Amino acid sequence: MEEEQVRHLLQSIVHPETGEDIVSSGFIEHVAVAAGKITVVLRFAKTHDPFAIKIKNAAEQLLKSHHPESEVLVVVKEGGQPKRPEPKLTTTTGGIAKIIAVASGKGGVGKSTVTANMAVTLRNMGYRVGILDADIYGPSQPKMFGCEGYIPDAEQEDGQDRIVPATAQDVKIMSIGFFIKPTDALLWRGAMATSALKQMIHQTRWGALDFLLIDLPPGTGDVHLSIIGELKVDAAVIVSTPQQVAVADVLRGVEMFRNSNVNIPVAGIIENMAWFTPEELPQNRYYIFGKGGAKRLAEECGVEFLGEIPIVQSIMEGGDGGHPAAGIDSRVEEWHRAITEKVVEKVMKG
Ligand code: ADP
Repeated sequence: MEEEQVRHLLQSIVHPETGEDIVSSGFIEHVAVAAGKITVVLRFAKTHDPFAIKIKNAAEQLLKSHHPESEVLVVVKEGGQPKRPEPKLTTTTGGIAKIIAVASGKGGVGKSTVTANMAVTLRNMGYRVGILDADIYGPSQPKMFGCEGYIPDAEQEDGQDRIVPATAQDVKIMSIGFFIKPTDALLWRGAMATSALKQMIHQTRWGALDFLLIDLPPGTGDVHLSIIGELKVDAAVIVSTPQQVAVADVLRGVEMFRNSNVNIPVAGIIENMAWFTPEELPQNRYYIFGKGGAKRLAEECGVEFLGEIPIVQSIMEGGDGGHPAAGIDSRVEEWHRAITEKVVEKVMKG
């Protein structure tokens, strides 16, 4: 009974959250076989991994059933990073020039709407654009581009499975929403989302793109880590509203990107819903959520303020109607273009 055999046996145990076996996921810190005793040390990255005990029991049972003559001891250690396994799938992002992640401290600030309108603005500027919608809490890009119900085809390319993205309004779109029903979202997130996202990252047939925008879930979490770990993100932009009181949430996001292991430049903060302009009074600006909140936030976080987008009926209607307003309302396009040009300039500079 050798250590390698123990590892081999443990390969049949899968972590329910990632769907990957605990050996190639790097959870096995130590295996020792000596004097009729098998000792295994499992190291979980999280301090309270909800599956730790379940996995420990499964490992003990498995080893005991195969080696009833041995004493089996499985020890759980928590915290600390397990070794990141090498991605097994070859990536399909080689044809993408720049990857920009769009983040927010909280939900409902218009992160997805800004992503969609930035994509359309980039398209209008002549760039080839794609969106990876990784917002597992509420994937909204399919609705915003009118391609709900799209079922991605799988195709073979050089002997590998590739997933074909939707193309809507000249923007390539791959969304976690294509793989889940809206009613599933709550149950689904966490459990299978990470492995589905990995597939989307590594198997989508993007072709050549100038920019890929990633619509991240709000806040910071496992999806962010998985994307940062699997993709070379060139820059992050953060969307906030003027009344975003939770400075701490945005700061956490900025720190996540700036972490020395991550090192993703934060291009800046965009203020969405900055003021309200009624259709019939296009010159009037009502600062209903307060004035200058995101600018102050940018100062506090030490990042650039990229510009403002007001609350406009056409932005909301465009999102609901499957046509981002930047493609049909020239004022909306102008607001987005001023911001997008700054982002492009920063990203190109590197
Ligand atoms: P998030 O992705 O941050 O959760 P969404 O992009 O889904 O937020 O936006 C939330 C809601 O606010 C949507 O109904 C959207 O149409 C609306 N919305 C976002 N930005 C604006 C805006 N500038 N003007 C009008 N409505 C907006």
